[in-house]
Amino acid sequence: MDYRDMLAIAYAEAQSGFDEGGVPVGAALFDADGNLLGRGRNRRVQDNDPSVHGETDAFRKAGRQNNYRDKILVTTLAPCWYCSGLIRQFNIGTVVVGESANFEGHLDWLREAGVNVIEMHDEKCTALMKQFIEVSPHIWFEDIGECDQCNLESTP
Ligand SMILES: [Zn+2]
Repeated sequence: MDYRDMLAIAYAEAQSGFDEGGVPVGAALFDADGNLLGRGRNRRVQDNDPSVHGETDAFRKAGRQNNYRDKILVTTLAPCWYCSGLIRQFNIGTVVVGESANFEGHLDWLREAGVNVIEMHDEKCTALMKQFIEVSPHIWFEDIGECDQCNLESTP
């Protein structure tokens, strides 16, 4: 399985999230041989739970692992501070990023910690997130913790 195949799984999760009316960020965790350990998606809207990001969902679905340095976390969008913290906390060795055009994340902070960051600049990931931000800007700004840019009182 190459990175593009891995990203396709994360993208399928993001697409499911979009179809559910949620934030379309999907992720998956793989072992060094490319075996899928867990996959998931942002479910802030679906579960009314702001702690379920794509990365944290995939991480939790994968269950306990005794070592993360040889693991590969694939995500459709550059990780936020919360998920970047998870990556550093557990020493995940490789992070594959679908796109960082809609949200640049903190990739240098990950690289500083020795994380192997691979940017895919994927057009499908970029287009899906762009569409979501246009349709649901208030949910997007809520998700990235910039509620001053949205008006939560006037939106569902
Ligand atoms: Zn996150």
